[in-house]
Amino acid sequence: MRHGNPGLVPALRDWIRRQPRSNSATYWQVEAHLRLAEEMRTEPDLRQECLAEYRWVLKHTTPRESQQARANAGLARLTRDSGFHYPGTIRRDAWGALAELPREMDPASSMWKWITVHHSAMPVSTKVHENQTVGHQAVRAVQASHMSSRGYGDVGYHFLVDPAGRVYEGRSLKWQGAHAKGKNNVGNIGICLLGNFENGPPTRQAQAALHGLVGSLRSGFAIGATRVVGHSHWTSTKCPGRHLTAVLRRYR
Ligand SMILES: [Zn+2]
Repeated sequence: MRHGNPGLVPALRDWIRRQPRSNSATYWQVEAHLRLAEEMRTEPDLRQECLAEYRWVLKHTTPRESQQARANAGLARLTRDSGFHYPGTIRRDAWGALAELPREMDPASSMWKWITVHHSAMPVSTKVHENQTVGHQAVRAVQASHMSSRGYGDVGYHFLVDPAGRVYEGRSLKWQGAHAKGKNNVGNIGICLLGNFENGPPTRQAQAALHGLVGSLRSGFAIGATRVVGHSHWTSTKCPGRHLTAVLRRYR
């Protein structure tokens, strides 16, 4: 790990703590928060604190344009990278993913600002609860249909959730998703719950997994509660079904 000056992080934290609280930050206060964020950027354990520092800079009205640009660039780099990992996520090799086709995808070009939830509209056997390969097969089927019928470079969603509450790694967050129609995909994380929720709600396990994943994505990427939406927010579609749409409303 790069660490130019090991004493710098505690010294900056300490200096910042001793500054008087006021709504208008001085140039040097902003500079201290920026330097602190830049020192912490490469340390995974300090990611949350680093995000908070950049956000602090952007929230203050006094920073100079060059400082704002540094904060924006730092935040974009942090939130764009694929360093995000949700504990317990089933990796692509474990569910038997086909290799992604980079030439058919667009790099994630902006910060993640939205989370859009879908359903697969296909029933999943209740055997999924005791047999994880049923879940793997369902995820492979979604990927295969996206790649062969729609010509996508990978499954269109970044995450999938099965009725047993397993979370699957979909398309890497290095890439923009393909789930919300054209430009709507920019900065938009796609999650698909396996099943059809027009006639009944997702299982309790799937709802709990969705809730945990969405919470983690929201805090990792600073996404507001009102920006967690169903597919029908973007276009005229029944997706993600009446019952899942009602579940999402409770997130607000
Ligand atoms: Zn959808």
